[in-house]
Amino acid sequence: MPPTPSVEEHFDVIVVGGGHAGTEAAVAAARLGGNTALRVALVTSALETIGQMSCNPAIGGVAKGTVVREVDALGGIMGRATDAATLQFRMLNRGKGPAVWAPRAQCDRGLYRRAVRRLLEQHAGLTTIQGTVARLILADGGRRVAGIETLEGRRLGARTVVLTTGTFGRGRIHIGTTTQIGGGRAGEAPATHLSEQLERVGLEVRRFKTGTPPRIDGRTVDYSAVEPQHSELEQFGFRWSHFWDEAAPDDAVAAASALGGGHGALRPASLPQLPCWITFLEESGKRVIADNIGLSAMYGGAIESRGPRYCPSVEDKIVRFPDAARHQLFLEPEGLDTTELYVNGLSTSLPASVQLDVIHSVRGLENARMTRAGYAIEYDYYPPSQLAPTLEVRALSGLYFAGQINGTTGYEEAAGQGIVAGFNAALAALERPPLVLGRETSYIGVLVDDIVSRGVDEPYRLFTSRSEFRLSVRQDNALARLSRFGTELGVYTDREESVIRQNASDEAQAIALAGSTTITPAAANPVLASVGSAPIPHGVKIVDLARRQNVSLRELFAAADVGASLSRDAITTAELEIKYEGYLSRERVHADKLRRLGDFPLPADLDYGALHSLSFEARQKLTARTPASLAQASRIPGVSPTDLQNLVIEIEKRRRSPATG
Ligand code: FAD
Repeated sequence: MPPTPSVEEHFDVIVVGGGHAGTEAAVAAARLGGNTALRVALVTSALETIGQMSCNPAIGGVAKGTVVREVDALGGIMGRATDAATLQFRMLNRGKGPAVWAPRAQCDRGLYRRAVRRLLEQHAGLTTIQGTVARLILADGGRRVAGIETLEGRRLGARTVVLTTGTFGRGRIHIGTTTQIGGGRAGEAPATHLSEQLERVGLEVRRFKTGTPPRIDGRTVDYSAVEPQHSELEQFGFRWSHFWDEAAPDDAVAAASALGGGHGALRPASLPQLPCWITFLEESGKRVIADNIGLSAMYGGAIESRGPRYCPSVEDKIVRFPDAARHQLFLEPEGLDTTELYVNGLSTSLPASVQLDVIHSVRGLENARMTRAGYAIEYDYYPPSQLAPTLEVRALSGLYFAGQINGTTGYEEAAGQGIVAGFNAALAALERPPLVLGRETSYIGVLVDDIVSRGVDEPYRLFTSRSEFRLSVRQDNALARLSRFGTELGVYTDREESVIRQNASDEAQAIALAGSTTITPAAANPVLASVGSAPIPHGVKIVDLARRQNVSLRELFAAADVGASLSRDAITTAELEIKYEGYLSRERVHADKLRRLGDFPLPADLDYGALHSLSFEARQKLTARTPASLAQASRIPGVSPTDLQNLVIEIEKRRRSPATG
């Protein structure tokens, strides 16, 4: 491919946008370039906003936390930046057992942003450039992308381009029904020229909306009236790489190892930990909202596009759940060096004066000062059914899309797509075969498959129910699941490769040791008694006890005095593989069966509303569309693999006893 003439500089890969998708795409391309001379540029409107969190300052959560681990396992930076900025860590779902644990970290917004930029700039082959991209340079009669041109008049050539412009495409901010400001985020200009060009070249474009809550000054909160929620003392790092960070001195590495380091390892908090605070929106606040609902941009007719169902505005909550007595609000710290608090749960597009009245109705916030008003934003997205599974735009060779521009929502979803698009853009530039992660490998694989094969009809967010492999695709085993792809791509350093091998060998050893070691009653019974499990009368293999609910493999190893050299994480993963062995193999059989059941017919008169094993969203959508077959049902956005499995079970049940239908 000849270099594009009349450009200032030629790159192999240009990534446009420095948000969560863009930074991961740039790092993935740079890592893949490794020892080759691949040249990667990240071009973004303002270098200071690289890694900016547009909405709440938190990373992870259910399914999302697993994606952060997956991004990290593939060499991404989200986990490392999060670990450097964590103000409060919680492992969600602790009560439900380690198979569904979900790490979530509240972050210092400024520290997170600076960590992302620092990590980016550690890559020798990666250049960051400030500029607002106004148009793509096209070649081959408009069928191939060949570079970018910025509003400032700079022209840069590229073999491949990754667009990750988030909510900036013709972004329009709404506060109430009368205030409308062009903007990609509060205080930042929208990307208009680029949107116009993409429409001109024939890409289908649609609009979604999202919103953010007001922020308040923490010095004006009555803390005696709100309930603190503290960080967990036991912290798990998101990153598996802290053993060998080039900058880490050997004593830090040794300290991490002593703590049982590695992926998801226990670690001491590196920053002072701050509490969040819980309070509630109660009757008086609900009344203020109900009385002013016509002034909300979303309800007063100013915005018609769809918003994220699972991050509803407070107006949505009042309208959809009128009988709920109160709605929980979390006051979340924005950072260590500011008193500003993010009011999680109060996303709104009401006029600023009404927002203030709502805030003052909340216990503990009677005298709170609002530092920033909440707002809603409408933006362009490109239906992702226009993309190949590599995230390349089918109609424009060499152009890749990742993040919110594809109709998804969330930092983690953006990061997961960024890493796939970044690898594929670099692979294409190097003329190597592409990377497609299957659904069985990862949540990232599920996300990409869902959006490119089914499209989206509302902002797409990941849930565990979207995956038919959610017992085998866990947060603890991301490295084991994905490192083979990283190794094949050649993205790891020698040091990283040796840790990956060590991790795999520790896991295998832990499983083998559990199967080969006999534990005596004297050693095992105290461990069993501590969790109320029946004592054993004679020696048994450790594996037989590790299968029992709540019995810890690590404690059994300690009692039998074996496995001391194995890492804590390897033992945790081995324990889950042992405990859920039966479920895991059933999960795989189920998925195979589902693949074969594509033609399974669905009765036209089926009352989906009565099928309570299906999610509410699936019941609504199946009722509206009445698909003729399971294959058709599977292509309806919002109908998850779990819903499909339950649908088959319900229909088979009805066939066996028609009276229940
Ligand atoms: P972004 O993080 O938006 O990054 C886009 C980047 O592209 C920016 O760096 C920008 O400067 C750059 N850029 C844009 N246009 C150009 C151009 N032409 N040239 C060069 N650079 C350009 N997610 C949730 O999960 N829940 C929520 O409740 C939620 N609420 C939100 C509320 C608001 C008001 C906003 C704005 C976003 C919200 N989000 C929410 C979405 C979340 O912020 C995004 O999902 C996430 O940031 C997407 O990452 P991204 O990398 O795709 O885009």
